[in-house]
Amino acid sequence: MQTLVTSATLEGHYEQLVRRQRAELQDAYLKGVRRLRWDAGRLAAERERRLRELLVHAADRSPFWRERLAGRDLANFTEADLPSLPVLTRAEMMAQFDRVLTVPGLTLGRIQQHLDQSNGDAYLDDEYRAIVTSGYIGTEALHVYGWDAFVTFVMQGSRWTGRRGEDPDAVLAQVFATSTRHESGIFHAFSTFESGGPAAHCSGGTQPLDEIVDDLNNARPAVQALQAWPSLIRELALEAIAGRLTIKPTWVSVAGEVCTPAVREAIRSAWGIETSEFWGCSEGTYAFPCGVGEGMHVADDLVILEPADADGNVVPYGQPAKRLLLTNLFNLTQPLIRYDLVDAVTMSDEPCPCGCAHRRITAVNGRIDGAFEYENGARVPRAAFEQTVLAAPGVADFFVGKTQHGVDLSVVTDGSSDLQHLRTDLIDVLRRHGGPESEVVVHEVSSIDRLWSGKSKQFDAK
Ligand SMILES: [Zn+2]
Repeated sequence: MQTLVTSATLEGHYEQLVRRQRAELQDAYLKGVRRLRWDAGRLAAERERRLRELLVHAADRSPFWRERLAGRDLANFTEADLPSLPVLTRAEMMAQFDRVLTVPGLTLGRIQQHLDQSNGDAYLDDEYRAIVTSGYIGTEALHVYGWDAFVTFVMQGSRWTGRRGEDPDAVLAQVFATSTRHESGIFHAFSTFESGGPAAHCSGGTQPLDEIVDDLNNARPAVQALQAWPSLIRELALEAIAGRLTIKPTWVSVAGEVCTPAVREAIRSAWGIETSEFWGCSEGTYAFPCGVGEGMHVADDLVILEPADADGNVVPYGQPAKRLLLTNLFNLTQPLIRYDLVDAVTMSDEPCPCGCAHRRITAVNGRIDGAFEYENGARVPRAAFEQTVLAAPGVADFFVGKTQHGVDLSVVTDGSSDLQHLRTDLIDVLRRHGGPESEVVVHEVSSIDRLWSGKSKQFDAK
């Protein structure tokens, strides 16, 4: 009896916290939508104000940042001064985790223990939420958000929907990770609690396909919009073409993996609609298409994104970048200043015909982290393989595996790919980088294994 009372009390407390945070989300949402209408000058002023606040706070409360920011005039720091600071890598952030955080007693050990012990969505110290990144490559990273920062993060994920002309009240099904360790899992727990917004359904990206199809067919109210990883949405589109998936989504959006032309074509054939692609990361930001101009608008009021080359030097807008450096202006608990997202994107500061002054990501070209290292000392970067595979017509999904004397590529195609040609291209990549080329295999498969998050595992960097 004692146990029952205790757990009921705890559940009530959790519900109260979520209810309060949801209410604050409504306010944040209205303010956030208004900031989508700000002009470039006002956005720049907002970023500068937030940047100074972040730097002063970080230097005051974080031993790591105190050291790194020593001797700088933080109160007068400008965005133009950012490139004078070093890049923060994921490995460095994780190695220095406790010293990077600004809250005494909030440590890697406690956060990990919290995640291991949580059964479902939960707060740490009634305030913090933690997210594990699901990068393609071994090193996991942890991201922790305080109360207000989490509200801001969720707000970014929702403020574009209504503006694009999509029905914000459409019943949405998300087929992402259901694990609360991952951001999509947390957001789901958050958005469906005591529904005040549109109805939402969630299926786990790692469930067998026929179960996902069943869930979607039987969901009530009926599904009107669909969101998932591109590789999975293609499988769902094929199920719809085969007549097994019967939902009729009016909009479809994808994120989390490179969306290939074959994926877009499958969605067109299945439902007669164009897919909308968004971009986001557990480090705290999203970019959304406006449906008018090209690309996706970044959150120019809440983050600073610097497109950079492989060495971390800033590249001009309009040029493809090899990596993207994030300064998160609203997460004061875990300051990320010039954090390396290793996302290869192209950014634009050209005015968008939709009138929104937030800058845009006009192309996502995959990620550059990882390389295959061979016995002869050759190092072949992941990007070289990935770009070659993505350039091959008809490829919908893929996995690049390393073998002792070359690569073993599995591809999911729409049937139009020239696999022999692709094999020749891969041999060429290996040759250019001095890698062994005696064992290059390309074979077609029906699907690619998924990571625990539900994403396709597209690259073997181990
Ligand atoms: Zn626009």
